Order: sequence, then C-alpha cells, then structure tokens
Amino acid sequence: MIVHDRLYIGGELVAPAGTGTIDVINPFTEQVAGRVPEATNADVDLAVAAARSAFDTTDWATRPIGERIEILARASAAISARMDELTGLITTEMGSPSGWGIFGQVLSSTMVLDAYVGLADTYAVEETRVGMFGPVVVRKEPLGVVAAVIPWNVPLFEAVMKVAPAVIAGCTVVLKPAPETPLDAYVFAEIMEEAGLPKGVLSILPAGREVGEYLVTHPLVDKVTFTGSTAAGMKIGAACGALLRPVTLELGGKSAAIVLDDADVASVVPQILDAGLMNNGQACVAQTRILASRARYDEVLDAVTEAVAAQVVGDPADPTTQIGPLVAERQRERVLGLIARGRDEGARVTTGGGRPASQATGWFVEPTVFGDVDNKMTIAQEEIFGPVLSVIPFQDEADAIAIANDSPYGLSGSVWSADGAHAAEVARKIRTGTINVNHFAMAFGAPFGGYKNSGLGRELGPEGVDAFMEKKAISLDPGAA
Ligand code: NAD
Repeated sequence: MIVHDRLYIGGELVAPAGTGTIDVINPFTEQVAGRVPEATNADVDLAVAAARSAFDTTDWATRPIGERIEILARASAAISARMDELTGLITTEMGSPSGWGIFGQVLSSTMVLDAYVGLADTYAVEETRVGMFGPVVVRKEPLGVVAAVIPWNVPLFEAVMKVAPAVIAGCTVVLKPAPETPLDAYVFAEIMEEAGLPKGVLSILPAGREVGEYLVTHPLVDKVTFTGSTAAGMKIGAACGALLRPVTLELGGKSAAIVLDDADVASVVPQILDAGLMNNGQACVAQTRILASRARYDEVLDAVTEAVAAQVVGDPADPTTQIGPLVAERQRERVLGLIARGRDEGARVTTGGGRPASQATGWFVEPTVFGDVDNKMTIAQEEIFGPVLSVIPFQDEADAIAIANDSPYGLSGSVWSADGAHAAEVARKIRTGTINVNHFAMAFGAPFGGYKNSGLGRELGPEGVDAFMEKKAISLDPGAA
C-alpha cells in the first residue's frame, strides 16, 4: 500500500490543511492500494499563492524559452527510465491493461513531451508585421497562473498534456488530478522537480469536484485547462465565461470508424478494435461507432463480433490481458445500464453484454458488440466509456458521412478504404477535430481537440502552447526605422 501524508505545494511536500484522505482502490482486487491527503480550499489558496509568486516575482516567465524546454527533455528521459514503475502504478490505480498501458499511458507521455521539445527551434514568441506608420512587434506573453484539472483515464498523459505547454509558455500551474488517480501524480511531481522545474511553478492537489470548482474560479488564476466529461466541461466553461477567463476544454467523444466498401475487412477490423477498446474502452478518442455499408454489413459485424469475443479479459497487471476492469463500481453500473438501454431500444448484442463469469472480483464488463444499431439510439449517441462497440449500417457514402456527423460530439474518427486518397476526401467532410485514414494514432505535433460538445480550443503543437499565451502588439517608433 502506497501512503502519502503530504501535498506537493510550491515545490515542497507540506502538511495538508485538512484531515481528509482519499483511498485509491485497485479496480481488479477491489482493495485499497493507496491513500493520499484530500486537498481543501485552504490548500488551493496556498498553491495558487505559490504559483502567483513564482510567476510574478521570479525570472521564470522571462527566461529564454530554450531553458524551459530543456526541463521537458529531462522529464521525458526520467519518465522513460521509470516506465515499468509508472505503468504498474497506473494499472493499480485505474485498471489499464499493462500491455497497452506501457505504450498508451507512459510511452505516449514521453512522446507528448518530445513533440513539445521539438518546438524549440520553431516556436517564435515575437514576429514583426507591417503597421500603419512602421513596424509592429507581435509578441506572445504567458497568461500567468494556470488551473489544470484532469481525469483518471490517462492520468500521467493528461498531466503532461497540461504542464508541458504551460512550461514552454512560462506559466505556473496548479494541477488537480482525479481522486481515482493521485498516486502517479506524486511521481510526476518528483520527476518535474528533478528535471529542474523551479519551486512554485507546479503544485499538485488531489481532490474531488468541489475543490476543483474552487480552483478554477479562484480570483488569482489567469487560465483554466480542463479534460473530462462534457457535463463538467460545460459547468467549468460557464464559470470561466462569467469571469471572462480563458479556458481550454477537452471533453467526451463518440467517434465513428467508417469502413468504406472497398476496405479489406480482415485487416481493418483488428485495427478498429484497438482503437475502440483501448484502455478498456475508457478513451475519449475511442472509435465506438463502426459504420459499415448494408452490402457488407453482415461481414463486418461478424468479423467485429468474432474478434471482440476473442479478447482476453483478466488481471490488468498481466501483460497478455487485453481487457481489464473499469475504473470504479459506479462506472461498471453506468456501462451496464447503457447496455440494458441498447437492448431496450432494439439493438442486438452479438457478444458480451454482461459481467464476465470468469472474474470473481473486479469491476469488469464483458467486451460487447451491438448489431442492428440505429444511430439515433442512446448507445450510438452517448459516450459509454467502456468496452462497448456499435456496428451501424449505411446506404452509401453520403449516408455514412451524414451518420458520422449526426453526433453531439466531434473529437476523433477514422476512414478505412483501399483508396487512401479517396478516404482522405471523406475525412475532410467529417465535423471532427482529428481524423485518421487507414490507421489509428494520435499525432502529437498536430492540434488536438474537439468540435461541438467535444470541447473548446486545442492542445498539442504550437497551437497547444498558444493556448497559454496572451498576444500583444507593440507598434514601434515610426521615426526609428
Ligand atoms: P469528470 O468530468 O467527472 O472529471 C474530470 C476531472 O474534473 C476530475 O478531476 C474531477 O474531479 C474534476 N471535476 C469534475 N467536475 C468538476 C467541476 N465542476 N469543476 C472542477 N473540476 C471538476 O470526468 P471523468 O469521468 O473523470 O473522465 C472521463 C471523461 O473525460 C470522459 O467523458 C472522457 O471522454 C473525457 N476525456 C476527454 C479527453 C479529451 O482530451 N478530449 C481525454 C480524456 C478523457
């Protein structure tokens, strides 16, 4: 059992203001695996004051950008060096299968850091344009103190997604991990400190949503960045709107994998499965609506059903496991409730649909496939966040595009075809923030974010750093030229 009795505030491990604690429960054993202090509003005040002071009174924000980027390069190397430890820790916290987690949870975090490090030579904070009477310097300046709130599904990855661009910009950060996954955040704090992050630039406060609300509305915060559910994102966006506070929101998804008629089903289905079931289906970019033409519907449904039925369900710490437990009992009940809803609305379960008999403990849901799904059904419209795929028929390509776009979300997607150029034309017609042709991956140098209810703003690439910057125009002395 891992126990922390202090909070990481302003570069020190300090005694918490309150006496509350958070138990981390291993979703496979259902046993307590860790305990940390639960941060309170008083701890938020202290952390925000430390971030304020580091931003306002030290040289952090005005250092050459290259110096800050070097810290990220060292952090990437340190995460790589602790890859197995971090993978194991995250699996214990939230049940991610370790065989996927080593890539999806940890290596991907270093890839995000490396992509931001790669901006060192190209990201310009000043450029000169033509003004009315002379040159205008267009300058980017760090926004200031950042409140960052992250979910439990990819906790280290999300911490990096927030902290790396904020560090490049010269901001300071108070990070609130989800109460399910505070343990890896302590390792992250250690890594960032050893990488050379000055005191005060990062504080980490494990807590629930009330303390999260207090943090994002704190009067001394300048910028909010949030990843999580659309419901919480809307609340946070409204609170930031009332304060005229810049906010980035990375929210839910219900992405479509469009299988065009010329696709090779046998080679495409395993890739779609990886993209639909990764992390036990707890991924915002999961490809959970599989669109197949009526002409090839049975073939696609059969292939998906057969492949999903063959998934290995079990102990997520076993590297051969493909599907582990969901993060929490409430999440299992939610997913089972949506499966029942699918049945009630007339969809047909072709495999799975319940709790696996093979598992005596753990918050498991069987990997499940629904056939005969109409896109208007709840299971096709709502994000399930579990190992549940829907196979939806379309008439022709125009119908496929219409179905893909008939969603409150627009985060990710994919198009599968023997003709990659044609698939790219289809991809251009989907209202979504990112989309893949004939493969599935996140491009860490390209902007990532959502259309519609999937969010506001972008992370990654230069756009990701811009989200932590104000823009200032300085019109120079016209006589000086
Ligand atoms: P959640 O919204 O319940 O919680 C996310 C985080 O926000 C937690 O730290 C929580 O304590 C905090 N929080 C909740 N309400 C808050 C409020 N009103 N004010 C401040 N903080 C608040 O989401 P979850 O169930 O933990 O995570 C799953 C969701 O996250 C899914 O919808 C998933 O799609 C989404 N997600 C999106 C992305 C993306 O990049 N678009 C990435 C990962 C996860």
